[in-house]
Amino acid sequence: MSKVIIVTGASRGIGRNIAYNLAVNGYNVIANYNNSEKDAQKLKDELKMQGIEIDIFKANVSKRNDVQKLVNFVIDKYKKIDVLINNAGIAQSKLFTDITDEDFEKMMQTNLYSAFYMSQEVIRHMVREHKGSIINISSMYGITGASCEVHYSIAKAGMDGMTKALAKEYGPTNIRVNSIAPGAIDTDMNNDLNEEDWKKIIEETPLMKKGNPIDITRCIKWLIEDEFTTGQVISIDGGIVIR
Ligand code: NAP
Repeated sequence: MSKVIIVTGASRGIGRNIAYNLAVNGYNVIANYNNSEKDAQKLKDELKMQGIEIDIFKANVSKRNDVQKLVNFVIDKYKKIDVLINNAGIAQSKLFTDITDEDFEKMMQTNLYSAFYMSQEVIRHMVREHKGSIINISSMYGITGASCEVHYSIAKAGMDGMTKALAKEYGPTNIRVNSIAPGAIDTDMNNDLNEEDWKKIIEETPLMKKGNPIDITRCIKWLIEDEFTTGQVISIDGGIVIR
């Protein structure tokens, strides 16, 4: 059986692109969504027209119960999970002093707790198989910090910390854990950026262009089949962060 891959937040943006392309490449894809049921169904239907079946599964991955239901569904159907892609996330731009407790909690729950819960529930099954790969979609802002996105930056830095710690703990069990830290990618998440904002970002980017979800998917495809990379935070950002 080809690899079984869960992609969280796969109804739109980067996650959708990952799920679509992995399915086209013959992997068994479980595309998670939360609110965007129609988009998720559209993804499934588009693939079906090409003779490709995927599962779509509604779960709010910031809730432990929903995560358990998602993981149980996959294990019942496929008996194993080869790859987990923790992609679901939200962003918010606010002055530090305007961030409410609710904003902070929602940011942590959606971007960080989700990856923690998903990884914990999935890794038990990977340990049994003595193999697996977890890919966390963090952000360049977890590395550099972003003004007016302190809570987002904290959550993404937390993800990268989790990546490194898990890589150490589970390396001996043949489970690889890596982060991909995207730069500015053209998705709904950046709908609040106007033409002027994009121009500025492009000017600051050595490759002088904005990112596309497929740029992230290419790295994912490589990471899925790689066998000697773990604990890394891989920047896919046109060079905007050069460390
Ligand atoms: P997007 O277009 O806004 O899509 C976000 C996806 O996350 C949607 O499919 C959404 O599903 C899902 N999601 C949100 N909360 C969820 C929850 N509680 N449970 C399950 N799914 C949930 O964003 P994107 O640009 O593709 O971003 C994907 C990831 O890349 C995020 O983690 C983001 O932080 C990271 N990233 C993006 C950029 C960028 O420039 N775009 C840069 C760096 C990092 P529903 O609509 O179904 O709820």
